Order: sequence, then C-alpha cells, then structure tokens
Amino acid sequence: MAGSKSKNIQAKLVVLGDMGTGKTSMVLRFVKGQFYDYQESTIGAAFFTQIVSINKATVKFDIWDTAGQERYHSLAPMYYRGAAAAIVVYDITTMASFQRAKKWIEELQKQGNPHLVTVLVANKADLNTKREVGIEEGKQYAKENGLQYFETSAKTAENIQELFYEIAKKVAQAA
Ligand code: GDP
Ligand code: MG
Repeated sequence: MAGSKSKNIQAKLVVLGDMGTGKTSMVLRFVKGQFYDYQESTIGAAFFTQIVSINKATVKFDIWDTAGQERYHSLAPMYYRGAAAAIVVYDITTMASFQRAKKWIEELQKQGNPHLVTVLVANKADLNTKREVGIEEGKQYAKENGLQYFETSAKTAENIQELFYEIAKKVAQAA
C-alpha cells in the first residue's frame, strides 16, 4: 500500500523447559515443517533462524534451543541476554515438567526484563489420554503470571504456527 512501510525486526527467542518436553521438536516443526520421531537430545544445532511475516512487519527470529544445558538449574546469563521473547515448554503427560516450567518462569522473572514476551507452552497435546496436567491448571498459572498460553503438538503440528505467529505479533508491537 502506498505510504505504508514494513518494519524488519530481528528478535532473539529462547526456548526453555525440561529435557524431553519437545523443545527441539517444536523448533524443528516450525523451522523445517517436520517431526522427527527419534530425535536425540544431543543431536542438532542449538541455533535456528526463521522469518515470520505479519501485518506490516517481518520478524526474523534467532531461536536459541538448549542442547542439554537444561539439566542445570539455571542457564548462563548470555543465554537470555538481549532476548525479545521466551517460550517455556512443559509436557502435558509429566507433572514434573510443569513444576519445572514454573521454575524457569521464576528464573526468567529474575532476569528483570519486563518487556520479554513470555509464552507458556503445554506440548504433546496429542497424548491427551496420558495427560497429567489439566488445561485449566496450565491456563490458570499462565493467567496469574501474565503469560500467553498455548497447547501444542510438535507431532501433529497443532498450534505451532499460531504460537510463533502470536510471538511475532507481540514482538512487533513492542519494537
Ligand atoms: P527436548 O529435550 O525438549 O528438546 O525434547 P525433544 O524435542 O528432543 O523431544 C523429546 C521426545 O518427545 C522425542 O522422542 C520426541 O519425538 C517426542 N515429542 C516431542 N514433541 C512431541 C509431541 O508433540 N507429541 C509427541 N507424542 N511426542 C513428542
Ligand atoms: Mg532438545
């Protein structure tokens, strides 16, 4: 449209959560459009880029995935430094991963960046029959902490595009 100029935004996005929750699978689903059933936790680059076009803006995500460092209770400050957004992932079939996600959110809050776009993600929604964490439980926690909430499946691709699109929108609004 005449007169309208689209913004190009570069945004660092960090992905946190317990090992095995599907962080790498989710990123690979988003970046490559595929699901790899026997993903090994140590395999794969820890860094990906992907562009999302939204209304009037193009957001280029630099995605930082953890390659095993998530077993430590906190990550190096450089991991969070300059991040525009964070995804905190848990696995709906493992209550412990939800408890751990809360710890990651506390750790993020300690970084003291009120502008960090933070999303709580309940992954493996396709395994609903083995669910240990209720939808309401996740939603309620997200609400109390001012976070966006998504139920996703890296396996079926449910809500994966929507998740990253929403983050791009929020990042663009903040830029
Ligand atoms: P990470 O350690 O958090 O990076 O987790 P991975 O991406 O390596 O995934 C751990 C395991 O969970 C792998 O066997 C994946 O295939 C599986 N997985 C990941 N996401 C999903 C999902 O949405 N649904 C199901 N059923 N399995 C998943
Ligand atoms: Mg991984």
